[in-house]
Amino acid sequence: MSVPPAQRPHVRPAIEELSPYRPVESPRDLAERLGMPLDQIVKLDSNENPYGCSLRVQEALSEFDRYHYYPDAQARRTRERIATYAGVCAGKVIVSNGSDEMIDLILLTTLEPGDEVILPTPTFGVYRARTELFGGRAVEVPRTESFDLDIDAMLAAVTDRTRLIVVTNPNNPTGNLATTQQIVRLLNTGVLVAVDEAYFEFCGKTIMPLTGEFDNLIVLRTFSKWAGLAGLRLGYGVFPKHVGEQVWKVKPPFNVNVAALIAAEASLDDVDYLYATIERIRAERGRLLRQLRRQDLLTPYPSQANFLLCHVDRGDAHDIHLRLADRGVMVRGYGDPLLRDYLRISVGRPEDTSRLVTALQNIGARV
Ligand SMILES: *Cc1c(COP(=O)(O)O)cnc(C)c1O
Repeated sequence: MSVPPAQRPHVRPAIEELSPYRPVESPRDLAERLGMPLDQIVKLDSNENPYGCSLRVQEALSEFDRYHYYPDAQARRTRERIATYAGVCAGKVIVSNGSDEMIDLILLTTLEPGDEVILPTPTFGVYRARTELFGGRAVEVPRTESFDLDIDAMLAAVTDRTRLIVVTNPNNPTGNLATTQQIVRLLNTGVLVAVDEAYFEFCGKTIMPLTGEFDNLIVLRTFSKWAGLAGLRLGYGVFPKHVGEQVWKVKPPFNVNVAALIAAEASLDDVDYLYATIERIRAERGRLLRQLRRQDLLTPYPSQANFLLCHVDRGDAHDIHLRLADRGVMVRGYGDPLLRDYLRISVGRPEDTSRLVTALQNIGARV
């Protein structure tokens, strides 16, 4: 019997069951609420490069005069430049609208309903959310007390429904690294392993050379964090041939816009400048860690990335998060029960650290 048109659902029941999108206050809205100029907001919530992108990006974008044409669907030139930078062959590189989109493409290519993705938690929340959206099952394997991978537990979680194992390295939000030996143990299962190296440039450690050895290794990277292109959206993946060929079929033809392609190439023309900003961020990471250790509100964990996960020792994490925002300092808080007592703070410029530390002293005197 057919359902009368008026009673047909407009959206998939599986979507209705998802928790609603929770918008976060934008820096602009916060500035307005506080009556502060936008450039006085200290944005330490999204691991962006506080020094901005390369000036060559601005120049190349303003000089370009072919925005009315579609981008090169193969992104051939950009992929060749990325391949040289990453030390792989261009045929293995696929570009995406941020690495967020690459995560979707990988899941769309690999998952049937009910298939499993192994995620060592806590980790980047997008993996679980998108796995579930696509009908897969996120199999969360807790990390050890020091946030290291529990390799034995991960291996024990592999079933005949396992399609993917994801390791974010360094891990977001904990900032620590897995070793190559640990990742090799996962690769030896034969299951597809995706290593997300969104923060590679802040530590210099990469699994990339093993893409030549293992036909079940995918490496994901992004220009968002190190190159300061979060707003322009360019991610890339290095794939084994038989997987990459299938991802090409799934990928929308013009997924990456012309501006993002130009910006990525201009960034690769200016790697020395960008690496100099990374050096400043790494130096500031140490300074921020020491300053936070000197007060008694937060305990920061050491990090190989451009952020510090901090345990909240006194008071309530959510409350401190809000009070920092009221002082124009944005940090990352979590709804996830595993991370209820933590805040993640991106490493900014020395002046950002000063604003943060002053605000924390202010708040600490009252909790
Ligand atoms: C920020 C981040 C991303 C997303 O990067 P985009 O390229 O901006 O989409 C992916 N993975 C991890 C672990 C991240 O922290």
